[in-house]
Amino acid sequence: MKYIVVTGGVMSGLGKGITIASIGRNLKNKGYNVTAIKIDPYINIDAGTMSPYQHGEVFVLKDGGEVDLDLGNYERFLDTELTRDHNLTTGKIYQEVITKERRGDYLGKTVQIIPHVTNEIKSRIRKVAARSGADICLVEIGGTVGDIESMPFLEAARQMHREEPPENIVFTHVTLIVEDLQGEQKTKPSQHSVKELRALGLSPAVIVARSKSPLQESAKEKISLFCDVPQELVISAYDANDIYEVPLFIEEQGLTTQLMKHLKLESNVENYEWRDMVTRMKSTTEEVKLAIVGKYTNLEDSYLSILEAVKHGGVDSGCRVEVNMVESETLEEDSDEVPKLPLFDGILIPGGFGERGTEGKMLAIKFARENDIPFLGICLGMQLAVIEFARNVVNLRKANSTEFDEDTPYPVIDILPEQTGIVEMGGTMRLGDYEAFLKEGSTAAKLYGSNYIVERHRHRYEVNPEFVDKLESFGILFSGKNKNRMEIAEIPSKRFFFASQFHPEFRSRPGRPSPPFNGFVKAMCKYRKEKEGR
Ligand code: GLN
Repeated sequence: MKYIVVTGGVMSGLGKGITIASIGRNLKNKGYNVTAIKIDPYINIDAGTMSPYQHGEVFVLKDGGEVDLDLGNYERFLDTELTRDHNLTTGKIYQEVITKERRGDYLGKTVQIIPHVTNEIKSRIRKVAARSGADICLVEIGGTVGDIESMPFLEAARQMHREEPPENIVFTHVTLIVEDLQGEQKTKPSQHSVKELRALGLSPAVIVARSKSPLQESAKEKISLFCDVPQELVISAYDANDIYEVPLFIEEQGLTTQLMKHLKLESNVENYEWRDMVTRMKSTTEEVKLAIVGKYTNLEDSYLSILEAVKHGGVDSGCRVEVNMVESETLEEDSDEVPKLPLFDGILIPGGFGERGTEGKMLAIKFARENDIPFLGICLGMQLAVIEFARNVVNLRKANSTEFDEDTPYPVIDILPEQTGIVEMGGTMRLGDYEAFLKEGSTAAKLYGSNYIVERHRHRYEVNPEFVDKLESFGILFSGKNKNRMEIAEIPSKRFFFASQFHPEFRSRPGRPSPPFNGFVKAMCKYRKEKEGR
């Protein structure tokens, strides 16, 4: 197994995950099987209990793992499916060490960070890497060098470096180059972060310098000199127009070849799919306007996979999607926002939890339904579409979800039977891959080109089967089901009105868009052309 261990310097939020995913993609293009492990040094067992305001969206894996959004980047760039073991946290490591201690596995020894915690970290990394069947494993150590929390992980990496043959492990440091008031690139903070790494016994072989504009020659020379890395191993990762361009410009600088040299790997393979996809993305001719009506709208990372899936649909349709975030509460409070809705070619309601903003979202759904504007609802978005339909079409005025009103006379959305009485928050929802059977001839079956699908889930509530017949008699169709679980709702008489209980965005890939997103973007393009009389 070959390991590329990546650390971060100066500050977090540098796009380290994208850089690493890009390195992985380039190695995959050379014919290697690449996997990735993300280490999050926080104490939480996983990201499942965290608000999107903390670290952005919670990404859901096929096995139901609720993980850091970087795993989404890895799945998209490497076109792979990962499992919950690919996200290590301090919480997971300590939980295991403490369980072993209680079981008496340590045979009376004093249990310590070195060697017990570091051994647990190393053995997890090696086990996950081996189990994945990959040739190369990328290991991202989250946070910034110098954080107390990441120390045991850095120490474990140092030990691995000593234990593995030199050609099996390489350290890469992603750091920030700041600009002074005159716009000159300054390397001092990066020099310090490398110094700190060295004090911990780690020497990066490659420095990836994140900066606004391409790295100036003088900055490159300084990093090379002060950080003891040859100039050709100082890579400039400047801000890209789109993250999908990052693999291309780190490839241009020869990073893949350099890493392969270090890891004693040789390959004559070259896959151009990614490059072709970027070319298609840049040559889109049409443009449409999408409104995402949500409640975490001031943080784009909260809806990262949705934005990515929309982009995938756009590339496939030759259409650039301009995304507008609409704060659902503003639709409730000052209805000045409502008249703006006709400006959009499509309305998307993403997943969410809690009552805040739900009435505003339903207002947007009503608008989309009544004006026949392409609509895509995801998870909570589907639940609200069903409630809106029950209230305004079936005339069940007080219909609601028991998540928001336990005493509603018409609980069209109700808690899943197996969820009643669960008090623990983490990992207890209906999570991960579940199948659905699609109705012949429905929009769903046409989009997927199949009557059977598997998609990822994350919910506690669902459509109450007792209301299905009544709702369907008014023109909504539950075209995807898993026994008596409603997985998809559509209104066949509309241009495009499609909602799913699952999250199709998590399986969308560049070059292989999720069918509902692809169908939605195509419907927006068509609608836009119709509006413009083309
Ligand atoms: N809050 C809803 C539920 O728990 C929807 C969840 C979601 O949108 N992910 O069922």
